[in-house]
Amino acid sequence: MLDFSRMTWPEIRDIIPRLDALLLPLGSIEQHGFHLPVDNDYYTARELAREIQKRGKKEGINLALSFALPVGCSHHHMAFPGSVSLSEEVFSRVLGEILQSFNSHGIRRVLIVNGHGGNAPGIEKALVKAREEGKWELLEPFYYWETLKKRGKGILKSGHYFHACEGETSLALALKQRVLMDRAVNSLDENGDLRNLNILKSKEVTVPPFHHITTSGVIGNSTLGEKSKGEKILNLVTMEAIKIIQGNLTPNSKTAG
Ligand SMILES: [Zn+2]
Repeated sequence: MLDFSRMTWPEIRDIIPRLDALLLPLGSIEQHGFHLPVDNDYYTARELAREIQKRGKKEGINLALSFALPVGCSHHHMAFPGSVSLSEEVFSRVLGEILQSFNSHGIRRVLIVNGHGGNAPGIEKALVKAREEGKWELLEPFYYWETLKKRGKGILKSGHYFHACEGETSLALALKQRVLMDRAVNSLDENGDLRNLNILKSKEVTVPPFHHITTSGVIGNSTLGEKSKGEKILNLVTMEAIKIIQGNLTPNSKTAG
C-alpha cells in the first residue's frame, strides 16, 4: 500500500508520475457524545481513505495515502473538554500550504477525504486559492455524508445524518473505532428538547454552539448505530470516491497508471 508517510523521497518521486490520485484525509478533534472518542473524524477520514485506496486497487486505480491532518475547525464544540479547534483562517492556510507543497513536487491529482463538516468552509477557501496558484488535473473535496444523503436512502432507520448519530456511529463500528455502545444516546429524547430536531430539518449551514442544543454532544440517535449499516455506507461512499477519481482521469494518466 502506498503511504507517503512511510516512504522515502526517492520512492515518492518515482511513484508520482504513476499516481491516479493522492488521498489527503482531513479530520477534527472534537467531542462525539458519550460513546465515541474525540478523534472520531480524524480516525474516520484516515480509515476511509485507506478503504478508498483498497477499493481503487481492485478497480485498477493507483492511489497513494497522505498523512492525515488531525485538527480542524471545531469552534462549536469547544464547551466540551477535549475538543481542539483551529480558526477557519489558520486551517485554510495550513491546508493551502500542504497542497502547495504537494503541487511543487508535481502532484497534480488530489482527492481531499474530509471527515468533518465544520472544515468545509476552510477547505473551499483553500481550494479557490490552490486552483488559482497551482497546476491541477484533479483537486476535489469528498464529503462522504453528502453521498450518503443523496444515494444512501434506506440505509439509516432515522433517515438523517448529523453528529455522532446513527450513521456516524455505524461507520465508526465498521471502521473498528473505539465505540462504547452502552453509552450511546438518542439526543432527540434529551429533556424533550426539540431544538436539535429543528436543526436536522433546517437547511442552515452554520450551527449554534452544540452545548446550546445537546447535553450529550450527540445530534441524532446513536443507539441505532450498527456495524452492518456502517459497512453499507462504506461500500457506497468508497465507490463514489472512486467514481470522482475515474471521472477525472485523463487519457495520459490512465496509460501512465
Ligand atoms: Zn464526526
